[in-house]
Amino acid sequence: ITRLISTVGKTSQWKAVLPAELAGVDEDVFDKLRGDSEALQGRASKDYGNIAREVPLAVFHPASAQDIARLIKASYRGAVPFKVAARGQGHSTRGQAMARGGVVVDMAGFRERGSGVGIRVGNTVDPSVGYFHYADVGGEQLWIDVLHATLEHGLAPLSWTDYLYLTVGGTLSNAGISGQTFRYGPQISTVRELDVITGKGESVTCSSQTNSELFHGVLGGLGQFGIITRARIALAPAPKRVKWVRLLYSDFSAFTKDQEQLISITGRKQNIIGLDYVEGSLLMHQGPINNWRSSFFPLADHGRIISQVTQHRVLYCLEVAKYYDGQSENNVDKELQVLLHGLSYIPGFYYEKDVSYVEFLNRVRSGELKLQSQGLWDVPHPWLNLFIPKSQIMDFDSGVFKNIILKRNITTGPVLVYPMNRNKWDNRMSASIPDEDIFYTVGFLHSSGFDNWKEYDTQNKEIVQFCNDAGIKIKQYLPHYRTQEDWTNHFGPKWRTFVERKHQFDPRMILSPGQRIFNN
Ligand code: FAD
Repeated sequence: ITRLISTVGKTSQWKAVLPAELAGVDEDVFDKLRGDSEALQGRASKDYGNIAREVPLAVFHPASAQDIARLIKASYRGAVPFKVAARGQGHSTRGQAMARGGVVVDMAGFRERGSGVGIRVGNTVDPSVGYFHYADVGGEQLWIDVLHATLEHGLAPLSWTDYLYLTVGGTLSNAGISGQTFRYGPQISTVRELDVITGKGESVTCSSQTNSELFHGVLGGLGQFGIITRARIALAPAPKRVKWVRLLYSDFSAFTKDQEQLISITGRKQNIIGLDYVEGSLLMHQGPINNWRSSFFPLADHGRIISQVTQHRVLYCLEVAKYYDGQSENNVDKELQVLLHGLSYIPGFYYEKDVSYVEFLNRVRSGELKLQSQGLWDVPHPWLNLFIPKSQIMDFDSGVFKNIILKRNITTGPVLVYPMNRNKWDNRMSASIPDEDIFYTVGFLHSSGFDNWKEYDTQNKEIVQFCNDAGIKIKQYLPHYRTQEDWTNHFGPKWRTFVERKHQFDPRMILSPGQRIFNN
């Protein structure tokens, strides 16, 4: 039946061929649905994870935000509502942007046709924050395009993800984190206003002052309350260049102590503005020294780094960056010296680069292109991303890094470890984080073969089980849970509000079914 949707075109019998689920759509919406196998078996039923696969009933190609509203309204008013999932770049790893038996909204096509709000830079005065620059950005836009467009005005957003070929709507549905989060908060903390199409098909403008329940619900809301068609993102003057440093540690306790000291400077230290970016990662004997996330260490030093890794089995790499204007290189060098003074990295294992701001923010792209050219970007990605309270990060190191990971000996992809400040997150938003002032994110960004992703999945499960048994209060980031009980635990005290907001804004449980929160 679904194939008929695309073949019947505009005929007087168009309604007669609709599957019952789509009976409520009007002709205008119908014209933008595709149900041919190319559409259904293509990107709408796949994602970056390459593990889940859910075939929708149809793929929707909106020409405007009003089209999206019409589609959702048809579902909301239908006798039997059909599910609707916005698909940004589909860079989820567990089918979160899929809609089995429902309709996938092709946000990438929407962007490519240029029919949304695009990217517009402006400024305004807000009673709570005063005068500020902003970009009004379509939810379908990519962060890389936001970067280029805002730089034309000498401005840029403050908070980023490591990888920029993700949509604004997709990252704001999660949080959007990277090494800037400790200082500026996640990307959701930098949003001033949203246009959202709710699960009732209503178009609503919301902010922390107006329609605030919807605003706070949508940010970190896993697509459950509405489709973001515009986000107003705060901007600041953009730097030109970046001093980018990596330091190697053999002792986890020294590594985390230094990370925590660095993220405590969110203002000034000895009259010097703190770092702009703090991250960290693991180097293990089974993995290469450089990986797709970035190559950094000079070839001549690989030997001595590998010998440290062999000696200690695992090294911890602290990664920091300080932005500057491109002219005062001497000053930034002196400032870095003050900020990094007294850190306990292995003497002599200090590496530094001076790169453009764009090169720094877009650092993951060259690795992606290399993997793509080798056909290795589209392999399965059994990722696990966790938030861990600071008080339990040592237990995590000994139980997970030093035990599970080293014993299983299969991890070769990047493993990220870095802390964040809870006070940079807004607790009214849906994103769920540990209940401590400082918490860590740990990301196991595995790439596997098509025949062995389950081994990584088993390792992921073992890690989660270990944490549960040891009482380590983890939260998943980019969460993937199977039971209602898991979701209740994940949201903890926020669960009631989350459910109430669902009933208020998407009472027929239409949106983002691939998250499996209300329909698992
Ligand atoms: P999709 O996968 O398409 O969608 C994700 C969810 O959001 C789905 O439920 C979908 O229905 C919903 N959604 C999509 N668009 C909208 C919209 N307009 N309105 C409402 N809901 C919507 N994350 C980080 O925080 N930091 C990182 O550094 C980072 N690095 C990454 C690197 C790589 C290589 C990859 C693959 C992912 C990375 N991620 C990172 C994860 C990424 O932020 C999430 O997977 C995000 O959801 C991807 O955006 P997307 O556009 O592909 O969303």
